[in-house]
Amino acid sequence: MTKLAFPAPAPVLLPIAGSDAMFPVRRIFCVGRNYAEHAREMGNDPDKEPPFFFTKPADAAIQSGQTIPFPVSTENLHHEAELVVAIGKGGHDIAVADHAKHIWGYAAGNDLTRRDLQADAKAARRPWDMAKGFDHSAVIGALHSASDTGLMTKGRIACSIDGDIRQDSDLAEMIWPTADVIAFLSRLITLQPGDLIMTGTPAGVGQIMPGQSCSVTVQGLSPAEVTFSGS
Ligand code: MN
Repeated sequence: MTKLAFPAPAPVLLPIAGSDAMFPVRRIFCVGRNYAEHAREMGNDPDKEPPFFFTKPADAAIQSGQTIPFPVSTENLHHEAELVVAIGKGGHDIAVADHAKHIWGYAAGNDLTRRDLQADAKAARRPWDMAKGFDHSAVIGALHSASDTGLMTKGRIACSIDGDIRQDSDLAEMIWPTADVIAFLSRLITLQPGDLIMTGTPAGVGQIMPGQSCSVTVQGLSPAEVTFSGS
């Protein structure tokens, strides 16, 4: 039997709506600029880019409904409401026509972003990791099986802070639908069961302050809610 230098970390587990089973998270991939209005608000041309990807550590994922400390090292924490696609069957070079069989289900998610660190990284042509992959940076609602939801290609996606709507769009507004996202990403890496893909955010991203609560809703899914303790 293999000896370990210290106990291996427990798997990252997320709840599944209507089930006692948990979803084991393997990796978290994220799509940049996948809604045209958001690309424009960040100063980019939405018509010229194929999808691009960045990652968060699996243990950045936290369940909905928690109160957590305000993230360190930022003066400008942003919310990003996103549809999360959960992979149930791995594969590489997945054809658009075959993508559905690789989807386990969906969740609402909040791609929390230290926007000031991201702006610094962009200006210096450095990686985004510390802007995107910090502790508790992926708030994920309970997962819903695709056998319950069907393929999710449209439906309202919204984000509110303390009840005020800040982002309000529709999944149909994605530049690259989830089928294309899976096809593109699986050409770059081999997708594995347990991988989560955060599929990009619509316009209206903005600042969250200490003491505030932020809720991401996607029509038909459980919300992804987080509250930050006050400073
Ligand atoms: Mn995002």
